[in-house]
Amino acid sequence: MNVLDCLYPRVCPVCGKRIPITSSFCACCSQPIKHAPCELFPLTDDPLDNFDCFAAPYYYDGIIRQQLLAFKFQNKTSLAKPLGLAMAEHAAAVFCTVSFDCVTFVPMSEDDLRERSFNQSALLAQWVAQTNFIQCSALLQKVKTTPKQHTLSVNERMQNLDQAFQPTDLVQTGSTVLLCDDIKTTGTTLRRCRDALLNAGVKEVYCLTCAMSAYDSLDF
Ligand SMILES: [Zn+2]
Repeated sequence: MNVLDCLYPRVCPVCGKRIPITSSFCACCSQPIKHAPCELFPLTDDPLDNFDCFAAPYYYDGIIRQQLLAFKFQNKTSLAKPLGLAMAEHAAAVFCTVSFDCVTFVPMSEDDLRERSFNQSALLAQWVAQTNFIQCSALLQKVKTTPKQHTLSVNERMQNLDQAFQPTDLVQTGSTVLLCDDIKTTGTTLRRCRDALLNAGVKEVYCLTCAMSAYDSLDF
């Protein structure tokens, strides 16, 4: 055990067992976890939007699904650390040739934020930024409350998010940004946020989530 393990002990968020500082889960709990490939994917299945700019460490299944649901809906904000560190490590590997000026996150509307009291994507983004020594800034705001995305069809999701995301004063023209969210399903939310950043003068936007699901499983 090295000195960092003693100074900053880490425990498995599933079973509570002590784990090495480089792990997010213990060996036992991480065994059934479905790791996503360490590569970049297009954000959506739209053939006109085929730029490989998205990555996630995990598939949205099993323990990861349970942990993300507990994080988001049962206020288990302590899960931001292991999940955010897994994202940070994945980002360091998969985006190793990209030099980011800023990490940002998918914003929540003021009403939704008041209801939940935290933005899970912001908490994850902060761990990603801090671990990789990049600044984290709120580059986007959600200007109207929209119906929950998962209650809508793909086409309705598109319309629902039109104009919902607006840039803040913190956007820097010509910058390269890493946009974080908790889960990617269709990629619609991330795509709208990316487009809002590009329209505001950001040069390049890459996207990172904790988990990605197949396009046909929209049941979370
Ligand atoms: Zn465990």
